[in-house]
Amino acid sequence: MTAGGIADEVVAPTGRGWMRSADPPASFTMWRYRELLPVPDGPIRYPLPIGGTPLLPAPALRRAWGLPQLWIKDETRNPTASNKDRATALVIEGGLRRGVDTITTASTGNAAVATAFGAAAAGMRAAIFVSTDCRPEKLALMTQAGARVFRVRAGYAAAVDLSRAAAAAFGWLDRNTGANPVTLEAKKTVAFEVWEQLGRRVPDVLVAPVGDGPTLVALDKGFAELESHGLVTRRPRLIGVQAQPCQPLVRAWRGEPVGPADLDPAATVADGIAVMRPAIGDAVLDAVRRGGGAMVAVTDEALRGAVATLAATAGVGAEPAGAAALAGLAAAVELRRVGREETVVLLVTGREVTAGGPADPARVAVVETLDEVERAMAGG
Ligand SMILES: *Cc1c(COP(=O)(O)O)cnc(C)c1O
Repeated sequence: MTAGGIADEVVAPTGRGWMRSADPPASFTMWRYRELLPVPDGPIRYPLPIGGTPLLPAPALRRAWGLPQLWIKDETRNPTASNKDRATALVIEGGLRRGVDTITTASTGNAAVATAFGAAAAGMRAAIFVSTDCRPEKLALMTQAGARVFRVRAGYAAAVDLSRAAAAAFGWLDRNTGANPVTLEAKKTVAFEVWEQLGRRVPDVLVAPVGDGPTLVALDKGFAELESHGLVTRRPRLIGVQAQPCQPLVRAWRGEPVGPADLDPAATVADGIAVMRPAIGDAVLDAVRRGGGAMVAVTDEALRGAVATLAATAGVGAEPAGAAALAGLAAAVELRRVGREETVVLLVTGREVTAGGPADPARVAVVETLDEVERAMAGG
């Protein structure tokens, strides 16, 4: 077993051979763990390769930080360059089995892009709800993949409400984080992959950005499942990272009261994690406390620095939210939450992708009601 590779023996904690020794490395995808995922038997229909992302040793970064056991889990290698692809794939796989033809989500950006491209690959329609301040570059990607995009003036929370109402009214797949537990099931596979790639070891510390919360909570769930199968005897400390202008969970973790006036999602470069009311924030705090971890906030300057450092010392391209784990590591080292000899994994969650042109205005509409949504979708 080489570090970064895949364990080759067969284990069958569920008695059904969920790690197949015959899997060549090229087939190392999220579906390797399908016995632990809510997918019925039968061939996987989702066409894009998901997961199986590399765990990189990053030697120059190790030297620069004096952390010889530092690893980067590079989730930017997913088809739309973020960890959102895992949840999208599992939700769509379930929909394909049931013959559902449309998927919806609200998103600050990356989940929407993953949904638009995943739906395109699977031959489904996508109805995406965003706030009117969603970045134009992300809108362009969504319409490029043929999605219908609905902009909601009242903001992200209202976009979530409308997306969920549309799913309920029209029988669409609901990919909304917090609403659909399948998103956690998919993202827990990151924990399984890290454990296998470290040679079936649990890292001491795992650092991850936190927006709505599923990424971090799913890591905890993944390690908990490995524990319940008797494969590991401990959990890593989880360190959650938020951007200073919008850090509701860091404030809650410190026990500080926080009101909407203290949070400004538009004031940070880390749009992917700038969420005022995290969908599963309490679960994030539980997971962080359980493992003896921490929540830390980082400045935009630190986020930009982390983007540059990842590129220059590890050859990994990331957007600011995607690089937050590295910025958070600096804060955690300062707080003496990370020891020099510990095995530390940074989850790099996303990279900027561009469509190479503007959004198709015919596929974008500002809406307030379900009727407007229904009419737009009927228009093709
Ligand atoms: C969504 C996202 C996150 C945070 O994910 P949550 O699961 O919502 O906490 C982190 N980084 C990037 C790049 C993202 O798109």
